[in-house]
Amino acid sequence: MDLAERLGVDPGSLEDLEGTFRDDRFRGLPYRHLPDYASSLERGTAIVDHPDGDPEVVRGFPKVPRTLVLETGVPRQFEDGSVAVEEKLNGYNVRVAPIRRLGPVAFTRGGIACPFTTAKLRDWHGDELADLFADRPGAMVCGEVIGPENPYTTHDYPEVDSLAFRAFDVRDRETGDPLAVEERRALCSAHGLPQTPLLGTYDRDEAAGAVAEHVAELSVEGREGVVLKSADGRRQLKYTTSAANTDDLAYAFSVPFDYGRDFVFRRLVREAFHAVESGERGDELAARADRIGERILLPMVETIREVDAGGLAGERHTVRGEPAVVAELLAHLRGQGLRLEIQADCREGDERVVTFLKVMRSSTDRTQAYLEGKIVRE
Ligand code: ATP
Ligand code: MG
Repeated sequence: MDLAERLGVDPGSLEDLEGTFRDDRFRGLPYRHLPDYASSLERGTAIVDHPDGDPEVVRGFPKVPRTLVLETGVPRQFEDGSVAVEEKLNGYNVRVAPIRRLGPVAFTRGGIACPFTTAKLRDWHGDELADLFADRPGAMVCGEVIGPENPYTTHDYPEVDSLAFRAFDVRDRETGDPLAVEERRALCSAHGLPQTPLLGTYDRDEAAGAVAEHVAELSVEGREGVVLKSADGRRQLKYTTSAANTDDLAYAFSVPFDYGRDFVFRRLVREAFHAVESGERGDELAARADRIGERILLPMVETIREVDAGGLAGERHTVRGEPAVVAELLAHLRGQGLRLEIQADCREGDERVVTFLKVMRSSTDRTQAYLEGKIVRE
């Protein structure tokens, strides 16, 4: 069967995408991946081009749509049946599938094979993944890597000291078709793979109210939100807590000239609709306004002071692992054109622990220029 047929897309659309795939290599094997959104194929789709045989596909994870208003958005997205509500964990998306000659490989959101995540997953769940793939040939496991010690995200979870994996989907690696929610949860649990928490399963008409309560609790705990799923796993909908929206604002304003205006505008709009749906007025609404203002201004002031003191603007990460894995990760990140400033590098037992800053050039340079009195016409 040819590739387009295996992917379930028409051959013309695959040809149209030809120029948008990016070529890369992982441990000697050439592969290409789709780094951007495209109409016919999910962003992050990776195709491993074995020199001696059929290519292997790891389909991208679909974009999860969002509602700004639960009461109307939930019934609109789910026309009937029951709705499973899972916690939305804030880490980074990975898809794992076995690749010939290599074994299981972890691909990040944009379809890049990540040496660090691959090594971690094999270490944590090598046996469980091997059993699951033997049980379901053609499957890929999708999940979130969460916890403080990773090169991509920085959200903390009290239950995770360093880093951990939580599965939230099992799909056909070529077509992207999901397993039904109940079947997938049973499969992961039978194979001993940890999963995102299931907060409840609700009748379509009572789901919005139940979700509002879950979201209020998650927000108090500083957690990100929920993903709602139809029983067959085909429809999804996300909603994030105020805690997550304002954390994102704080992060974006700590590197003010590297994050798109859209990114912050969208989060402000979410907060406004959330305030309205919660029925907030008076002091409560004023308190939200204060909170938002602080998460905008304080990180920006801190960054300006840091650059003024001769420092750099950027994103700080700490990673820990076998020395060879950490070295491969740093080379991998630099290979993607990132500038890293190593701030600490030490051994703890057999592990190497490195703290580094992903330097954000625009934020550093423009802040410096303004501090030096650059005149702007605005
Ligand atoms: P994209 O929608 O393209 O992934 P994004 O950064 O906007 O980009 P998010 O807002 O984080 O994505 O929401 C979707 C992501 O949420 C999924 O890609 C997945 O990584 C993550 N996620 C966390 N928990 C779950 C869960 N229980 N079910 C599905 N996805 C989850
Ligand atoms: Mg996310």
